[in-house]
Amino acid sequence: MLLKFIRKHLDIDLLRISLVFAFIYTLLFNSAVIIHRFEYYNISVWRAVLELGKDSIYIYLSLFILFLGLTIHRLVFVIGALFLFVTGAIASYYLYLFKISPTKEVMEAFFCSDVNEIYELVSAKLVIWLIFSLFVCVYTIRHFNIQNAKLLVTKLLSAICLLLTINSVIAPHYKVLNNYFPIQYLHNSFLFFSNGLNPSSRIDIHQQFAFADNSPEDLIAVLVIGESARFDHFGINGYERNTTPRLKDISNLFSFQAQSCSNVTHISVPCLLSRHSSSNFINVMKERSFLSILTHLGFNTSWIGTQSLTKYLKTLSNTTIYDDVDFVMIPGGSTLLKMNDHDGLMLPYIDNIVNKNPKPGKQFLVIHTSGSHWNYTSRYPKKFNHFTPDCNYVGNVDFRKADPSSCSPEGLINTYDNSILYTDFFLSHLIDLLKDKTAFLIYVSDHGESLGERGRYCHGGISTPEQTTIPFIVWASDKLHVARPGAVRAIQSHAGKEINHDYVFHTVFDCLGISSEIIDKKLSLCELAD
Ligand SMILES: [Zn+2]
Repeated sequence: MLLKFIRKHLDIDLLRISLVFAFIYTLLFNSAVIIHRFEYYNISVWRAVLELGKDSIYIYLSLFILFLGLTIHRLVFVIGALFLFVTGAIASYYLYLFKISPTKEVMEAFFCSDVNEIYELVSAKLVIWLIFSLFVCVYTIRHFNIQNAKLLVTKLLSAICLLLTINSVIAPHYKVLNNYFPIQYLHNSFLFFSNGLNPSSRIDIHQQFAFADNSPEDLIAVLVIGESARFDHFGINGYERNTTPRLKDISNLFSFQAQSCSNVTHISVPCLLSRHSSSNFINVMKERSFLSILTHLGFNTSWIGTQSLTKYLKTLSNTTIYDDVDFVMIPGGSTLLKMNDHDGLMLPYIDNIVNKNPKPGKQFLVIHTSGSHWNYTSRYPKKFNHFTPDCNYVGNVDFRKADPSSCSPEGLINTYDNSILYTDFFLSHLIDLLKDKTAFLIYVSDHGESLGERGRYCHGGISTPEQTTIPFIVWASDKLHVARPGAVRAIQSHAGKEINHDYVFHTVFDCLGISSEIIDKKLSLCELAD
């Protein structure tokens, strides 16, 4: 029935041509992306194949839609296909040989470079690859001898596909498409050209201020963003329960009491990643996060998280905080991590990034945990069910789906403390992965949590002290101690001082050895306290 309809109303030839072109394009150019991404997934070949197989289906379908859109007119198809094959060849060449992806920064640099700079980037290999790609394109066009659509339904379908493709270039609906060709470079080019027209896109501070990077060559810096962790529920901060048995024994680890920028995630996270203070939130949202500076300075920047912020942090130009880093692994669009996964499931991927990277260079890694977010019982594996009874077992009723007020006060605190115990495990394991490196780690929670004080639970709404008083932990490896001898002493000199989220930016840059006029050393823990 469907087949009959297709035969009667659609130009089979055009469908076939679109399928073939989508296949050739994927094979020639997106294989570079797939190989590039595979390196991040080599923790398990099976998972990598699953993840990339799913991506390939998306990419193939989107390319089929793209080429079917081009069949709207013979000339559009010929010019469009030639353009895509030339640009695809260039993009895949740089990804294959230099591991350079056409990100927004790279496209900007490309459009802003002069003829001489471009000339220097052209090599014989690129020319051969370009000629080969063009030959494949021209040969396939001639072989199929493409004609204009004869049937009305085909014409309509082509028009719809063309509109869908244009929409994808302007604002890719699926994040995954933005990692593959041609949407990646087309979308990022679009962002470059539309920037002036779109005041909502964020300012890149690296273009306005100079930064001098004197960080050690093999440096790994890690920023762990905690979730709903309270300062006063950490054993190392004087809590009567030993909720941090592992962190307690780690040397060069310093714990501070801090105030969060806000009591909700989607404000606190961009705020702590900004040079602006919490009192200046309007400006926080006007600029890109400080991660974009590090990416620009040549750090390998990665973001791995068990939660996703995408839906909150989009601007009209559709950029998110994730666009500021080189590599992102978050729930949604990935089968590797999903919402409500335990934070520990990130450890093998982190191990991969920091220990098995063939060309590590300087690295900056953001780890966005689910920490102690409600529902606390979902945050840790069973073996961390140390403080009992926990909410799950009160009165033999399954409280997994219940709200915190349905749990007994004792059970609620037990369950919450178990999640801190698991955070202790996670952080100490992470430090273990970094201990032989020249490494630096900051753990800071996004905000705190109410556990029934004055009838309040969770966080958000009116701010209360327990929702904004957070743990802020700094750790430096022995090698960092050697590379920057004064830093550890300086961190120590701040003991007992209450700090806040503003310290993140200034401490990260100063401790790494990056200087700039916008770094306020008074807000850096790596400078001796007054
Ligand atoms: Zn949060």
